[in-house]
Amino acid sequence: MSVDKIKHVKLSHVVLPLGTGISDAKVFTGRQKPMTEVNFLFCEIETEAGYSGVGFSYSKRAGGPAQFAHASEIADNLIGEDPNDIDKLRVKLLWAGASVGRSGVAVQAIAAIDVCLWDLKAKRADLPLSKLIGAHRDSIRTYNTSGGFLSSPLEEVLDNATKSIESGIGGIKIKVGHPDHRVDLERTAAMREHVGDDFPLMVDANQQWDRPTGMRMCKLLERFNLVWIEEPLDAYDYEGHAELARVIDTPIATGEMLASVAEHEKLIEHHSCDYIQPDAPRIGGISEFLKLTKFAEQAGLMLAPHFAMEIHSHLAATYSLEPWVEHFTWLDPLFNEHMEIKDGRMIVSERPGLGVTLSGQLRDWTVNTFEVGAK
Ligand SMILES: [Mg+2]
Repeated sequence: MSVDKIKHVKLSHVVLPLGTGISDAKVFTGRQKPMTEVNFLFCEIETEAGYSGVGFSYSKRAGGPAQFAHASEIADNLIGEDPNDIDKLRVKLLWAGASVGRSGVAVQAIAAIDVCLWDLKAKRADLPLSKLIGAHRDSIRTYNTSGGFLSSPLEEVLDNATKSIESGIGGIKIKVGHPDHRVDLERTAAMREHVGDDFPLMVDANQQWDRPTGMRMCKLLERFNLVWIEEPLDAYDYEGHAELARVIDTPIATGEMLASVAEHEKLIEHHSCDYIQPDAPRIGGISEFLKLTKFAEQAGLMLAPHFAMEIHSHLAATYSLEPWVEHFTWLDPLFNEHMEIKDGRMIVSERPGLGVTLSGQLRDWTVNTFEVGAK
């Protein structure tokens, strides 16, 4: 048996610029400004036996500096510990910052470290992360979201869908939740006609409908044969989503905004959705994600993790029911390796760990670093 020790931890706050301001329904209803960048917290760990890992967490709009600050305060708790004991370390880090709680920014800071420890463990075993956990499949159905934002004119959205389909994508998701409901129906009808009756199509309202509007819109959207309707209501309206899931034939999807396993468990308890959409960096990392997906699997829920395909392709591969993974190329400049798609599916990397190394561009976009331990 080999026991190893963590000797060095490096944290990096990275700001990824987006080409143009991105707007979903939250911008059109005046709740948020267009998004121009994504903040990342990267964690790199080195051990005495010469192993290394990399992990990341992220935040959209506010929260990036807070995640970096919290992780920097607690990272010294890792030095000298065995990197194999991932859940022990997760709990130790939680207790180090116990007064800031077990959801949101606190667990998102720990998530970057947890992901890094899983990457390291898989690399030590010389296995892809999916195989370390145990995989049901080596590719996942994948769909595109980034071509369907409300800020893009309809012609451009249709054009983006054509390009995605030509590149091998397996589904298209467009944003709805526009303050003028006719716009949603026109855009969805145009896209359904554009891709044909049988091509997988989803819509995402980003929480912008109240309960009566949500019910009316979901009923109007039934005729488009959608794979799912995403976040029709406020992310924390467990009962409202449950009512829609009961009444509407089209599957209801939600969960991306929730910030802990405990919050997700309420979705399961209330029967709030057909597709659950956890985001590992947002709920505390891979350890927490796997805990949640065990509950979700027992409840018979379908799985469609949110964002971060570099992590979620591995995790979705381990779910027993056929999942979907969201294809976003935004993170491509951060890594030297890129995800492959073929015949509608994302190929799970066969490289050890997550299968990514950090790019020179990532170093150029790093705005702050923190290091602890000996090199
Ligand atoms: Mg969404």
